[in-house]
Amino acid sequence: MPPKTFQIHTSLLFDPKQKSFVENISIEVNPSTGEIVNLTTRDDDDSFITNNPKDIDLRGKTVLPGLVDSHTHIFIHAYEERSGTQQMRDQSAVERTIRASNHARAALLAGYTTYRDLGTEALGNADANLRDCINRGLTPGPRLFVATDALASSGSYELRVENKLGGNGLGLSVPRASDVADGVWGVRAAVRRRVGDGADVIKFYADYRRKTMRFPPDIPGGASEGGGGKILFPPKRRNPAVPLYSEDEMKSIVEEARLAELPVAAHAGETRTAIWASEAGVTSVEHVFEDTHGVEDEFFDKLKEKGTIWVPTMATAEMLPAEMFDECKKRVGRACEKGVKIAAGGDTGTFNHGLNVREIEILIDSGMKLEDALEAATVVGWEACGGELSGFKFGWFDKGNRADIIALETDPRDDKKALRKVSFVMKDGKVWKQNGVPVDMITVPQWPVEDASDSGEEWTELDVAVPKMSMSVPLPVYRPGRSSS
Ligand SMILES: [Zn+2]
Repeated sequence: MPPKTFQIHTSLLFDPKQKSFVENISIEVNPSTGEIVNLTTRDDDDSFITNNPKDIDLRGKTVLPGLVDSHTHIFIHAYEERSGTQQMRDQSAVERTIRASNHARAALLAGYTTYRDLGTEALGNADANLRDCINRGLTPGPRLFVATDALASSGSYELRVENKLGGNGLGLSVPRASDVADGVWGVRAAVRRRVGDGADVIKFYADYRRKTMRFPPDIPGGASEGGGGKILFPPKRRNPAVPLYSEDEMKSIVEEARLAELPVAAHAGETRTAIWASEAGVTSVEHVFEDTHGVEDEFFDKLKEKGTIWVPTMATAEMLPAEMFDECKKRVGRACEKGVKIAAGGDTGTFNHGLNVREIEILIDSGMKLEDALEAATVVGWEACGGELSGFKFGWFDKGNRADIIALETDPRDDKKALRKVSFVMKDGKVWKQNGVPVDMITVPQWPVEDASDSGEEWTELDVAVPKMSMSVPLPVYRPGRSSS
């Protein structure tokens, strides 16, 4: 009988629980359960004896738990390629789905074995469907924890059209971009709808730039002053983020999500609204790019008091004007000094999937220690997914954890770009990338093998292994909106 388990031998491994690099660990994996079954420390680099041909040798590389991106949109591709509005309004569901399956492959090959995916952006609960396809082994991708539709109050997070006269299905119709809910019972009903649709996490907009229609956006092609497509004298703060929900409504959302044992993520552009969301008991606050009301210290203190995770989505902040991005980086630096718990989540999708590690690089660039940043991209990501409530253990190495294991070609302590050099990816005990090459990305049906002694007219039923194949995955290109130095 061949052994049911195999070993992964490492010489350098990052342990997010100890927050340190450790040497000469071997990880025993059971591929039929997808779990880590044991960890042993070897005496030295080559002191292991094994004759199991299935063992994997990752010595000489840097081994990490599979990475967690705590803020993604699997159905969105880079805004610099097409705006969010164009993607939501104009792209077919088929195009968006095919793009999403490409995104899932790109993420997996970049070392991301888990995604906390915070909203389909006008594609209903298609994220739950995609999650199920991945869980059923129909297509490769990270383990998805999905929000389905985000909750938003009336007249806030929606596709805007200036001409509202064509209602009743006769005029322009656009898909809904959120589950609209108002009032303490209204929002509870919306959470119940999300649970019913299969959400793993509840997302709501605590604030949003919802006053677009006071000074509508300039009309492309008609933006010259003479053409009448441009607001000539807009105010300085043309469309600031303002609250969508009262504190009571936020509390209702959290209470209802708790009944269903689901974590809650709150979009908050402003520190003030993030404080309300944290007070209401959300698991995480997302973004928080501005501090208009000068309450940054209170924001940090509230997060620490309530144990709220901050997902600052720096990789999308990089697309903001330079001064604003610099201010965001400084705020992350101050949060690190204060000991605020941060998870790495890039708002990935607004820039392309597969480039997810940009978030970790910017966190480090903002003053976060490498070890803290790796923790933010692993264990804290697990906590953002609900921790034990997620139903799984991932993001660190332990018996019973998912066997999500990746390897970098270089040591991130010496090489700032090490996280871009993922050469090995395993998720749930299955290898998806080896020696830098994708494997098993397409499942192909296989003709039964003919018995050589046979005339060839009858097939012999054999359990034929599907050959390992690689496919060309459209690889995203990193084009920052501006220099990050
Ligand atoms: Zn987002």
